[in-house]
Amino acid sequence: MTVRNLFLLPGDGIGPEAMGEVRKIIAYMNEAKNTGFVTDEGLVGGCAYDAHGAAISDADMEKAMAADAVLFGAVGGPKWDAVPYEVRPEAGLLRLRKDLKLFANLRPAICYPALASASSLKPELVEGLDILIVRELTGGVYFGEPKEIIDLGNGQKRGIDTQVYDTYEIERIAGVAFELARTRNNRVCSMEKRNVMKSGVLWNQVVTATHKEKYSDVQLEHMLADAGGMQLVRQPKQFDVIVTDNLFGDMLSDVAAMLTGSLGMLPSASLGAPDAKTGKRKALYEPVHGSAPDIAGKGIANPIAMIASFAMCLRYSFGMVAEADALEKAIANVLDSGIRTGDIMSAGSRQVGTAEMGDAILAEF
Ligand code: ATP
Ligand code: MG
Repeated sequence: MTVRNLFLLPGDGIGPEAMGEVRKIIAYMNEAKNTGFVTDEGLVGGCAYDAHGAAISDADMEKAMAADAVLFGAVGGPKWDAVPYEVRPEAGLLRLRKDLKLFANLRPAICYPALASASSLKPELVEGLDILIVRELTGGVYFGEPKEIIDLGNGQKRGIDTQVYDTYEIERIAGVAFELARTRNNRVCSMEKRNVMKSGVLWNQVVTATHKEKYSDVQLEHMLADAGGMQLVRQPKQFDVIVTDNLFGDMLSDVAAMLTGSLGMLPSASLGAPDAKTGKRKALYEPVHGSAPDIAGKGIANPIAMIASFAMCLRYSFGMVAEADALEKAIANVLDSGIRTGDIMSAGSRQVGTAEMGDAILAEF
């Protein structure tokens, strides 16, 4: 039987509550479908700091490196507001991204029909929306050197961040976007600002060349990132896959998030390069929402983002496309039936807690 190694890092706040519902789904799949998931579990964030003074221990880092996929809950909370910067809870996630070399961040924006009225836009603009933003995660202006504040001496200072992209970085993120498009509606829109940025000119050239060389079967369009942001709220359904850099991707994926209604609904995946020998990518799956300290421990958190993150894990780390589709369909059916956690309540719906929502999805799965 295939062994599939999952490393679970529930983290802080509502992370463990949401992860609990994924654990039920994993147990069910092993039992009923013989999926061979083997899970191990570690600490990340504030709970890891409390246990051993670091946001993630070396031992847990090694387990994350060895696993087929990492499932991550959420980190942080007011309890750790005063801990030193290097060991703050978020440092655990940053270390995971860095050591696993997760350069591609996938943020789907899916609008479940039952929630279209919760969108910031008119329901008809978002109903059935299904777009995927592929954001470059390890390069660009967040990491480029020089990065500093210089004292100019005359009471003036200068803050410097540098946008840097090399050919290989653009090629590999474009490759991820084109490959994902082939499994979807075969369309990619690349966004940069080539009109004012040299890195944007290179981005445009390399995406175009990568497309011509290996992916000419996919439809490619280029858009300036500002115009892209405008189109994203004007006519979001025109997009299938959007590929863009670290900074623009950060902003555009938050904009896309608001198209779909609630933070408690949104999954994400971060992928690394394929291993030279096995072809397998390192990967981490996490909900977009944070640890939500205001509702932690009450059993009312929405577990859908975490469950949908596990669906992405099935699809991208294990190629279990039918199972991923079925899990996403189960989520949609439960929402259609009017079952809701507090964050997505609407008139006429029935409010349930975290565990009941998880059970309802499992029953539909
Ligand atoms: P971070 O800095 O980690 O992103 P944050 O404070 O910006 O944290 P969240 O922790 O995601 O954001 O919480 C923002 C708000 O959304 C909170 O009021 C929280 O209760 C709510 N929220 C977030 N996730 C969920 C969820 N899964 N279910 C219900 N409510 C949620
Ligand atoms: Mg936040």
